[in-house]
Amino acid sequence: MSESAPPLRNLRAGPATPDPAPAQVVKAKAPENMAVNKVLCDACPVLCQISEGRLGACDRWGNVHGKLQRMDPVVLMTRPGTVLVPASPQEWDGQLLHQNAPVFVSGVASGTTYPDYKPAPFIVASRQQGVDMVTVVTESIFSYCSFKIKIDTDRYLGPEQATVRFAGEAVGHVTTIEYGSQFLSLGGVHHLTGGSRREGRMTCELMERLGNQQPVDLVIEDGASLRVQAGKAPVVNGVEEQRMRVGCGSAAIGIFARQWFGHADEVVVVDDHITGVLSEHQAGKCLDMPPTGIRIRGRKSTPGRYFQVAKPGTGWGGTDIDDPLVIIEGWDPKVARPGLRLLMVSTTGEHAQYYVLDEALLARAVPMPAPLQAVVDRIGENCEPSLVTVLFVGGAGGSLRAGVTENPILLTRSIKDLLTRVTCAGAPAYIWPGGGITVMVDVTRMPAGSFGSVPTPAIVAPIEFTMRRLDYERLGGHTDRIRRLEDVWATDPHRVIPWIPHNPWPLESLR
Ligand code: SF4
Repeated sequence: MSESAPPLRNLRAGPATPDPAPAQVVKAKAPENMAVNKVLCDACPVLCQISEGRLGACDRWGNVHGKLQRMDPVVLMTRPGTVLVPASPQEWDGQLLHQNAPVFVSGVASGTTYPDYKPAPFIVASRQQGVDMVTVVTESIFSYCSFKIKIDTDRYLGPEQATVRFAGEAVGHVTTIEYGSQFLSLGGVHHLTGGSRREGRMTCELMERLGNQQPVDLVIEDGASLRVQAGKAPVVNGVEEQRMRVGCGSAAIGIFARQWFGHADEVVVVDDHITGVLSEHQAGKCLDMPPTGIRIRGRKSTPGRYFQVAKPGTGWGGTDIDDPLVIIEGWDPKVARPGLRLLMVSTTGEHAQYYVLDEALLARAVPMPAPLQAVVDRIGENCEPSLVTVLFVGGAGGSLRAGVTENPILLTRSIKDLLTRVTCAGAPAYIWPGGGITVMVDVTRMPAGSFGSVPTPAIVAPIEFTMRRLDYERLGGHTDRIRRLEDVWATDPHRVIPWIPHNPWPLESLR
């Protein structure tokens, strides 16, 4: 909702009439035909009319004895190393606030600013090393948000741009592969609002579950079936992934060339993207390795580096092959010789086979010598555990800023100037460069259960803006709504949880 502009004043027309008193709207007016035993929830655009003793459509708000109430208490998080004294928090009078704030008011269950004409539900004053600080706390309703999923695996998940489905509905797509990881982009306003009602509902459910670190089952068109969960190993076609590759085939050649030297005449590192061939590779040249006459299928990129040796799949090195010899077209009889020692290995070391060429220049599998096995094992040792990372990306540069300040652009600038720190349930948020306030946060750094949803459909996520009080005043903040942390503690139902380890304390010096 936008406020109407103040009346223009004619500066030459003599003394101006006094400005009207500023509007003091604290609660939305209920519709005239609403039953008297109901309360109107205006925490999101659904505008539920809730009967006494019942919950609204999202189960987050209810009518308790005729009053609208957020059903979960706001979540406070204790500063690392802080023991709240005395042992019973109910008896604590906030004395520690004279020093450094012992708790941080998070946005989890704090309530929203919707319809964005009202100040944020919590604007909290605290102190940090003698400096007066303010944290503006709210739950934000995000229609423009998505999740970027990083899946550490070489297995083929599906073609780039392929549709990803959840419960049969299109909820996102496969995006680019990065080094050792494959990425999905899930959710977003297109799927939330641009398709059928069911597509929107399923997208919202998927996003809420991903954000709350729960497992979700996905199917990629012309690709794999997946189970992904933040902070856990991905499951591809029913098999739990173990290792993230050490590098591409060419990188593996470079890393281990000297360790293979003298124990094999040729090494081929099989990779869906760049298969490496030691004797041709620059690393082999530096070791004065002679040519072996090997001919590899696929497209030669540069010496010892081959593209497209096979189709992508769930076999050796993210290809579709089970027998690595199929990528060898043959051997040049003028160069190759019987007895030549060949190692073929994948980029994770999960697949490896040692061969010796016979009199007909055919590769015969034989037991692997111990020195080569040690290097294969070292490839595995250098592979990090395969993991799913779930990053929430949301656009916070819109109307929720009105809950912070009367002049929203000043909040945007304050964040870009590093005067205001943005966190999501205390987790540090990366702010994308350029316009707006596009936040990105790792959901495993947030308390489990931080995300909610409303049936518009949209995602509800906590967000906090922390700055010096002086800076809050300068950006036109709602200073008349600032409350002392002691008062929040004393009067607002709350739940105290520990700080998430490794997250920086948001009240620490901002610059
Ligand atoms: S769906 Fe929206 S209006 Fe209904 S109870 Fe939830 S937040 Fe309130």
